[in-house]
Amino acid sequence: KGQLSREAFMQEIAAMTERMVKKAKEYDRDTIPGDYATLQAPCPNCGGVVKENYRRFACVGKPGAEPCGFSFGKSPAGRTFETAEADQLLRDKKIGPLEGFRSKAGWPFTSEIVIKYDDEAHNYKLEFDFGDDKNAEESGELVEFQDAALGPCPICGADVHEHGSNYVCSKSVPTAGQPTPSCTFKSGKIILQQPVEREQMSKLLATGKTDLLDKFVSMRTRRAFKAFLAWDKEAGKVNFEFEQRDSKYPPRKTAAAKTGAAGAGKTGAAAKKTAKPAAKAAAKKTAAPKAPRKQAAGKAPSAELAAVIGAEPVARPEAVKKMWEYIKANNLQDPKDKRTIVADAKLRAVFGKDSAGMFELAGILGKHLGGE
Ligand SMILES: [Zn+2]
Ligand SMILES: [Zn+2]
Repeated sequence: KGQLSREAFMQEIAAMTERMVKKAKEYDRDTIPGDYATLQAPCPNCGGVVKENYRRFACVGKPGAEPCGFSFGKSPAGRTFETAEADQLLRDKKIGPLEGFRSKAGWPFTSEIVIKYDDEAHNYKLEFDFGDDKNAEESGELVEFQDAALGPCPICGADVHEHGSNYVCSKSVPTAGQPTPSCTFKSGKIILQQPVEREQMSKLLATGKTDLLDKFVSMRTRRAFKAFLAWDKEAGKVNFEFEQRDSKYPPRKTAAAKTGAAGAGKTGAAAKKTAKPAAKAAAKKTAAPKAPRKQAAGKAPSAELAAVIGAEPVARPEAVKKMWEYIKANNLQDPKDKRTIVADAKLRAVFGKDSAGMFELAGILGKHLGGE
């Protein structure tokens, strides 16, 4: 009565297990939760059906055939595709530009997305396409900048220009002068919703950082915050610098003490000169770390540069300032274009040429300032 033989019982178990596994597989693939979409456009690789699953849109193959392995993530860089977008992407093999992506560092970005054949993977895959610059790199199309140079690239000293949604080093994109890019400097015109005006980018290039900007909005907390944008030499990119960041300075102070000992008088002078802007910011009570930092960054000028600004170790911004004093004192600006410096004998030795643009100065000086 209701008792099964051992064999029948085992068969029953086996059958039940099979049903459960099958169910679970179906469940995993198509059913829950809610409706996973089936895209209209076919798989670009095998022409099969592309369906949504938990994390991806994936080829499930033609009827009766195996999936070919093509798939792409539903939320690349933190932005989730609408089904219609995924369909369009599949059909046109590109979509966008779409807004709302987020880099690993948390910066929002806008990009086109393309589906491209990858020779190594022998299948199509999704790629971000950042427009002009990247296309240019791939097509070899040469970029012509429309704007005046903003200043010297902090990596290589070449001119920085606007390009698409970025400020870029002129050597980071193919140009008539240099078809093969050799630099990587690039910084967004809008960073965390904060527009970075040309004026601010020029300031960053000339002095190492922008004014305190107050319209950044954190992606994580959605709250506005203030920060400087500053060239982070170690990271090799533009980074945030906050008002209070004492921890960054103590190690440099020791370096300052050393150079200070070597030339006590000079660092004192440098401190005096920087005292004004520091005092201005002192209202924000956090400017204190600035002064030691500037002293610490003092570098010995080359012999050529020393002939112009003196032999005392200086930070680059200070060197730029002294250079300008020299230029003004000797009336070396081109009267037709004040942005052009016409070199006298001493400056020619520094520039290595007869004239230089004012925005080149910081870059040129950088090359003439020795080790820290
Ligand atoms: Zn396929
Ligand atoms: Zn560069």
